[in-house]
Amino acid sequence: MENKYNLVQKIEVAVPKDRILTDEPMADHTTFKVGGPADIFIDIVSEDELGKVLSILNENNISKMNRDFYLFGNGSNLLISDEGLRGIVLHLSKNFADIDIKDEATDCRLICKAGATLAAIARKAYDNSLTGFEFAAGIPGTLGGAIVMNAGAYDGEMKQVVESVKLMDTQGRIFVKSCDEMDFSYRHSIIKENDFIVLEVVIRLKKGNKDDIKAKMDELAQKRRDKQPLEYPSAGSTFKRPEGYFAAKLIQDAGLKGYSKGGAQVSEKHCGFVINKDNASAKDIYELIKDIKLKVKQDSGVDIETEVILLGKFD
Ligand code: FAD
Repeated sequence: MENKYNLVQKIEVAVPKDRILTDEPMADHTTFKVGGPADIFIDIVSEDELGKVLSILNENNISKMNRDFYLFGNGSNLLISDEGLRGIVLHLSKNFADIDIKDEATDCRLICKAGATLAAIARKAYDNSLTGFEFAAGIPGTLGGAIVMNAGAYDGEMKQVVESVKLMDTQGRIFVKSCDEMDFSYRHSIIKENDFIVLEVVIRLKKGNKDDIKAKMDELAQKRRDKQPLEYPSAGSTFKRPEGYFAAKLIQDAGLKGYSKGGAQVSEKHCGFVINKDNASAKDIYELIKDIKLKVKQDSGVDIETEVILLGKFD
């Protein structure tokens, strides 16, 4: 990549200066609260702006596949290395977060921009007596990240509520895919293998009873508070659920409850969570993850895979 200051000058044609940051610490943009600086960090506020920035990046041969640029939602499923990210982070967040409603007789559609948080969408659904999104209220990500991951909890997943997804490819072309075409499965969507950017999602929900919706959201929030170490920075469940097993149980059975490396620890409250207990570095977390995988394999013979996405240089 060319000199970042030259590139910033080119991007300033499309984005105001105050939204283009250099050497921005990623620890401030991830729920793990670790990660070194990104060369360039841009807060994107509209589709139009995103298209313009992509065309500048294309003209300068900067591509997502070459790991020259990265997309961020709320950074709640990311582990960024201490060295940070060489390249550009495009952040779709609170300024790209409109939620519109199309009300019909029995069901209803929410048309949401990718930066809307799942909590805000759940709130909008509740305000309008719409049921079906309660499962997602406590997942601390944006809709874009949730589509990529097919985020889910408590028997719900994005696949159940998505009608269609508006995407942009890295050439700036916009197109729409149906829920079926998104190929959602456990923590997977087509975006895992394709360089698409989520712009907008149509979510289909049913009319429900407002008190029941509130009761469900309260019950699930209480479950999270009881079972998850929400008082510490983390990225949620660190590992995917291996078929036929629960990662947390495998980790606990391997004797790793409370096991730590530097400031990173296997949560004593929920062994599936690696937490930033005490000023951990990304390296601490990474080394702990490697150790957990090894020890679980030795103990049970099962390979566990990270759900958390690692970005930057680790080894
Ligand atoms: P990020 O972490 O910013 O990004 C995740 C991936 O999506 C990256 O590859 C990124 O490049 C890509 N991405 C982000 N936005 C876009 C976009 N607009 N277009 C294309 N790609 C994009 N997850 C669950 O599934 N269920 C849970 O119950 C759950 N509980 C959690 C609890 C806690 C306390 C924490 C910290 C995390 C939890 N998570 C859970 C993990 C996380 O919140 C989800 O994976 C969430 O969907 C990630 O969204 P995000 O906006 O933070 O994405």
